Amino acid sequence: MRRNFGRLERKSGQLTHRRLENLSSTVNELFQKAVQNEQIFRRYQQFELKLLDHSGFDELLDLLLRNAVDHFQLDNVELWLYDPQDTLMELLPDNYQSLPELHLYSTASRLEQLYGKQPAVRLVTTGDGKPLPVFEDEHLRSAALIPLVRHGVLVGSLHFGSRGHQRFTLDKSTDFIDHLASIVSVCFENAVNLERLHRLSMYDTLTKVKNRRAFHQALDKEVSRAGRNGDPLSLLFVDLDYFKQINDTYGHPMGDKVLKEVAQYINEMLRKTDHVCRYGGEEFALILPSCGQQRGMEIAERIRQQISELMIENDEADEESCREVSVTLSMGVCCWLPMDDYEDGSEEDIAKELIACSDQGVYLSKAAGRNCIRYVDLAEPE
Ligand code: GH3
Ligand code: MG
Ligand code: MG
Repeated sequence: MRRNFGRLERKSGQLTHRRLENLSSTVNELFQKAVQNEQIFRRYQQFELKLLDHSGFDELLDLLLRNAVDHFQLDNVELWLYDPQDTLMELLPDNYQSLPELHLYSTASRLEQLYGKQPAVRLVTTGDGKPLPVFEDEHLRSAALIPLVRHGVLVGSLHFGSRGHQRFTLDKSTDFIDHLASIVSVCFENAVNLERLHRLSMYDTLTKVKNRRAFHQALDKEVSRAGRNGDPLSLLFVDLDYFKQINDTYGHPMGDKVLKEVAQYINEMLRKTDHVCRYGGEEFALILPSCGQQRGMEIAERIRQQISELMIENDEADEESCREVSVTLSMGVCCWLPMDDYEDGSEEDIAKELIACSDQGVYLSKAAGRNCIRYVDLAEPE
């Protein structure tokens, strides 16, 4: 009896020990899971704070399309955006226009196919030989599809792709991704609105080239850059000849059309790094970085020549009026070549002098009969 009791005691002791071991390993697992969740939470939170702190459309795109890959240890990220009126396309910074990870859709059908009527985060894997519904990269094995919804409308979709089959499986919780989805959606709307406002404040609504405020900013920036790099910088002032007559003869709307076409034509003739600005009514200022006197004069001559041959269709033409309207330009050119003794403090004066000399050049061209170009040395404005 005593012996039996002793055996029972030992057995129950073993059981308790095993239970304790099980319990301890469960607690350990839960603890590990909690630590892991905490790390994931922090990773998402850090990224969301960066998103909320973005300073513009390009920085937001940079965060989503470039930084997210490293931050979340992904193999690819892709962004689809719904852009029915090409507004986003127009707002996109130049270096994003042909980015393979960014897709703009003019219809909502591709996005709706992904989510159906009730957009929610989807975790998908390649199974049964089926490819992922997003990404062209065939090495990816799983993905999180993150719908971007604003005011009940599906406006885009962000995709996180992984080569790991197990990374985004259905059994994973989507809480963190859900939260990220709403932050990205809000940030996106914000960035687009900010960019629109910025454009409105920096671009001329009629001609779509930079306005006078943007001109002064660009000139200051380019003077500074030219000084740093020791590069030449040219400024061309352009004034349409007898423009008042165009308004008087063909009407103000036709005058507007002439301004628009001349601005766009000049814009297309120049490099992306040049700045075409509407300085005033029928006056434009062209900033040409890394461009010396000789090249500046050649470019001015090409513009003068080609605009004088441009025939602009008169939409309101009747039997008696001309079907096409032409216009000529008077131009002033000035160039700054930073010298060895150049000092930063004089940058503001250089910008002012460049403007004064180019303006003087226009005045001289008008006096010489119009449809011509005059160069004025930086040192000698009147
Ligand atoms: P010049 O050869 O001496 O430069 O003569 P001009 O007629 O071009 O110059 P003037 O300064 O006498 O007239 C400029 C005209 O440009 C007057 C103004 O009504 C017109 N103008 C300014 N802004 C606009 C605009 O946005 N649209 C239209 N249609 N006309 C404009
Ligand atoms: Mg004028
Ligand atoms: Mg004029």
